This record gives sequence, C-alpha cells and structure tokens, in this order.
Amino acid sequence: MQQATLAIIKPDAIKKNIIGQIVRRIEENDLAVVAMKMVHLSRKMAESFYYVHRERPFFASLTQFMSEAPVVLMVLRGENAISRWRDIMGATDPAKAKEGTIRKLFGESIERNAVHGSDGPESAGFEIGYFFSAVELVR
Ligand code: GDP
Repeated sequence: MQQATLAIIKPDAIKKNIIGQIVRRIEENDLAVVAMKMVHLSRKMAESFYYVHRERPFFASLTQFMSEAPVVLMVLRGENAISRWRDIMGATDPAKAKEGTIRKLFGESIERNAVHGSDGPESAGFEIGYFFSAVELVR
C-alpha cells in the first residue's frame, strides 16, 4: 500500500551536520522525498506538534530540545512508508535500536534520537497537515 509519512531530522542531527547522511538512507531504502523544508520551530509549535505527549514527564524537555535549533521536515512516500521509515529509524532509545538504524548510528539518548517518524496513518495525516499544505506535496 502506497503511504505518506512525516519525517523530521531533529536538532541534534542538524547540529552534527548529518542531513545528507540521513537523506541518503531514505533514498537507499526506496522512499521518495515528496516535500521538504527547514524551519526553526518555536516552543509553541513544538508543544502543539507533541500535544499527545503533554502529560508525559519529558514533555518540557522534549519541546525545549525540538526548538533549540532548526529541523528538516519531510514527507516521504512509498510502499508501507510509515512502518518502513520507522524500521530505518530504529527504536526510540538508541541504546536499544538495531545495528545500522539511524538512531543506533546517530542518536545520543532516548530524547536526542536524531529523527522522527509518524507512528500510524492517523498521526501521519495529522503531522503532514500540521506542517505542509497540499500544494507543497509534489506528487
Ligand atoms: P517515537 O515515536 O519513537 O519518536 O517515540 P515517542 O512517540 O514515544 O516519543 C516521542 C519523542 O519523545 C521521542 O522520539 C524522544 O525524542 C522523546 N522521548 C520518548 N521517550 C522519552 C523519555 O523517556 N525521556 C525523554 N527525555 N524523552 C523521550
């Protein structure tokens, strides 16, 4: 099934100057980048994006982290893009992520874990719409 998912290259990875290394892994895995932009999220934008986590103990720290430097926002399209991108990313905690995954390679901690990916069709729809309008998706 063809799907679209939202990917984010998080501030820790932007600071490490590894945008290209992450995009290369997306392309090597046959996912297409169909929208892309770089933005510096405000604290409020980060809080609204992670609204589902508002009750979690790490919410303040997470939203501070996500607004500390720019991020790269992308929409990826391909066969089963949602679960495939999550497989390429690896587990939330880099220490538990499989060898060769982006989080294993580049993540620093359970919070500073380099990338984001939507966790299902419903969140993908919300997350893509949060950052992109229809005219910004190229196919
Ligand atoms: P994901 O879907 O793998 O990104 O994981 P979640 O949706 O559970 O969490 C969203 C983001 O919050 C993660 O990617 C991390 O950046 C951060 N996070 C998750 N769990 C923790 C935690 O236990 N502590 C801290 N500080 N951050 C966390």
